[in-house]
Amino acid sequence: MITALAGGVGAAKFLSGLIKIVPEEELTVIVNTGDDMELFGLHISPDLDIITYTLAGIVDEEKGWGIKGDTFNCLEMLEKYGYEKWFNLGDKDLATHIHRTILLKKGLTLSQVTKDICRRLGLKVNILPMTDDKFETWIETDAGLMHFQEYLVKRGARDRVLGVKYVGVESAKPAEGVIESILRSSLIIICPSNPIVSIGTILSVKGVREALRKSHARKIAISPIISGAPLKGPADKLMSGLGLEVSAFSVAYLYRDFLNVFILDQLDRGEKERIESLGIRTILTNTIMKTLEDKVNLAKVVLEASKSI
Ligand code: GDP
Repeated sequence: MITALAGGVGAAKFLSGLIKIVPEEELTVIVNTGDDMELFGLHISPDLDIITYTLAGIVDEEKGWGIKGDTFNCLEMLEKYGYEKWFNLGDKDLATHIHRTILLKKGLTLSQVTKDICRRLGLKVNILPMTDDKFETWIETDAGLMHFQEYLVKRGARDRVLGVKYVGVESAKPAEGVIESILRSSLIIICPSNPIVSIGTILSVKGVREALRKSHARKIAISPIISGAPLKGPADKLMSGLGLEVSAFSVAYLYRDFLNVFILDQLDRGEKERIESLGIRTILTNTIMKTLEDKVNLAKVVLEASKSI
């Protein structure tokens, strides 16, 4: 059994390569829910949807999120009614949020709802939210404290980051199956995702980090930072706001208490020694996933590395 820890687009790209070479039933994906929020009375789970849509083959590949060929009629109409249009929600995408919200209101947990959505989209992968409880990532900035989506989408990550708050972290319990799959897996993959607001949130959920340390699985991470910068998203701003150097080394450092292998981009040869001094084996390869072949090749490198520890 394989468990993957995942944020949004970076993880989804990697996982779409992995499921080409590993039976879907063998894979559990634990997904960040710190980006979740309520909009128009609906529960939105951006990372869960990116992973689900991508693995179901319906994602808008150009954007990396949303459903391909979607229209935005509902949002345009809402704008006419005076609602702010800062978070793009396509018409088909809205159906997911409506379905999710109806089921949550009926008393189902987010895990149960996610399972239902996966089944209806024909997915056999076990996709789990990191928690069923309320958990929100808030960013402290020079313009005030705001929800992560407000910082990223509404304000375009333009404010200076002063800190990150995980609201709900004291009481949020891991969703059913999260700890068990970490403990039972033979391989745990930390996907190339934001180390602070995607993987950092998952690691902050009670018991997750301890389970990773305790698990006998091979634990392999793929660097989301290449040549001192993320390929997309605000990882650099968040890392430097927290006083961290923006480098692949910093990411490995954040995972040093449980990680066995770090997959480093071939452009970051110069980081190898520093990372190995943390007691983590490194493997250099191309980690930039543009084509399906790139994704499958990267997945093969990870599987190969898991055999040779
Ligand atoms: P979200 O899509 O913004 O929720 O973000 P994720 O949590 O998935 O993280 C985005 C991170 O993925 C950024 O740090 C990117 O650098 C990284 N990423 C995106 N695409 C790739 C890729 O093709 N290769 C690698 N190595 N990292 C990537």
